Amino acid sequence: MRTKLLISFTLAMVARIGISQINCGTQTPPIDELSQINPQAKVAPLNNATIKIFFHIVRKNNGDDANSISVSEAVNSFFALAPIFNPQNICFSLKGWGYINSNLYYNDFSFNYNDCNSLINTNVNTDAIDVYIVPNSNSSTQGIAFSGIPGRSLIIQKQAMIGGKNIFAHELGHCLGLYHTFQSTSSNLPWACPENINGSNCDICGDLVCDTPADNNGSTDGNCNYTGGGGYNPFTNNIMSYYDGCLTQFTNGQGLRMRDVIANSQTLLDRLVPDNITITSTTYPLIIGPPSCNSSSPPPNCPAPLYNLLEIGKSKISTSGNVIVNPDVPNNNPNNLIATIGFI
Ligand SMILES: [Zn+2]
Repeated sequence: MRTKLLISFTLAMVARIGISQINCGTQTPPIDELSQINPQAKVAPLNNATIKIFFHIVRKNNGDDANSISVSEAVNSFFALAPIFNPQNICFSLKGWGYINSNLYYNDFSFNYNDCNSLINTNVNTDAIDVYIVPNSNSSTQGIAFSGIPGRSLIIQKQAMIGGKNIFAHELGHCLGLYHTFQSTSSNLPWACPENINGSNCDICGDLVCDTPADNNGSTDGNCNYTGGGGYNPFTNNIMSYYDGCLTQFTNGQGLRMRDVIANSQTLLDRLVPDNITITSTTYPLIIGPPSCNSSSPPPNCPAPLYNLLEIGKSKISTSGNVIVNPDVPNNNPNNLIATIGFI
């Protein structure tokens, strides 16, 4: 009996080690919102955009965070987004972070519907994408953009955040309107619309992006070369694919689609960093940044994300990098401060 258990355990470990695909739990919605918009009502894609993010770190009921992600680990994951999204003129601003003390979410989070649904409705930010980070669990699901495509939130395991495989960027890609590169091609549900290998139907089938080749979600060798056969030749380095350890970049078509979705989604427009920010908070210090991309000044792409610690309304105002902050105090009312952020 003991031998049998040992063999089962060993096989399970081998199977786990042998996993060569990431496992995202994001479900495809029944329709693509963007293609449903009346052409007359549709707005042109944004040239660039900066989206706010807020981290929710799950701890035990008593605040024990032994298995939780640390703030510095979370912030490092935030910085890792820059080289992936900035070439597509998309930036992120870290609004802040907070804690959710819950044994239910802390202990072996299952990623089942009820737990996901309750978690993403906890401490919701209406002006930032909520990122809920649970400790590592036995679930094979590493992350999920549970609020849909596009969406306002995601849940992710700690290891997927800090593992260096860009699964955080993958889930954010869903939030900004992207489907898997193998959408409908390796799985016909819910859209029975596989992309032809020659891409002839790329605008209406598959992931609806034409510069991502058809992908049947096959296999790769140790060097991220595609070995799945079938005549396919997918980009194994694409962030929205499942090729574990190979995900590094978006295509320009995906960048354009994200900026198109943002422009046409009120949920995402509500989460943009505006050029002008009216600060009404009297809580100091304030954290603002990075600068909005909505500037006609160079650089054309977004600067590397950075955030600035500001104490507005007091004597000390610090800026850094390529950001200038011009505080103004209308009527000398410290509760009505305006900070204008732009490139210098
Ligand atoms: Zn996914």
